[in-house]
Amino acid sequence: MPLKLDEVDASIIRSLMRDARKSFRQVSRETGVSTPTVKARYQRLVRAGLIRAAVLDVDLSKLERGKMAGMGMAGRMGQQWHHGRLRKGMLVGIKCDYCKGQVGGKPSVLKLGNSERLFCCTSCRSLYREKYQGRLRQVL
Ligand SMILES: [Zn+2]
Repeated sequence: MPLKLDEVDASIIRSLMRDARKSFRQVSRETGVSTPTVKARYQRLVRAGLIRAAVLDVDLSKLERGKMAGMGMAGRMGQQWHHGRLRKGMLVGIKCDYCKGQVGGKPSVLKLGNSERLFCCTSCRSLYREKYQGRLRQVL
């Protein structure tokens, strides 16, 4: 007998299709379905073969063209980059989570549960924390 999807299944799938990195707890919060139910439904959908894989979506445009660690601005990366091949030493451009500017040196990090936000400087980090204080308390 085929598995008949209900609104709970559909909302779990929709939530994970937006970002499959989410934990069952995050999906639970988003959909209003309890965490154990999310987990059980997810496993059932995997067993049924409807959910085949959680695919990693890599933004290759974040790789800094022509730049590799320790090579400065050497243009030797151009070709490899064109083929979308990942190599060790490639640099990933990081934007500040507050001012959206390029993070030049070592980013200033704000840990939020099991994720983190990156900033160009400590004042952007403080301003971000002030701005999102209410929401951050819910996350932690
Ligand atoms: Zn900034």
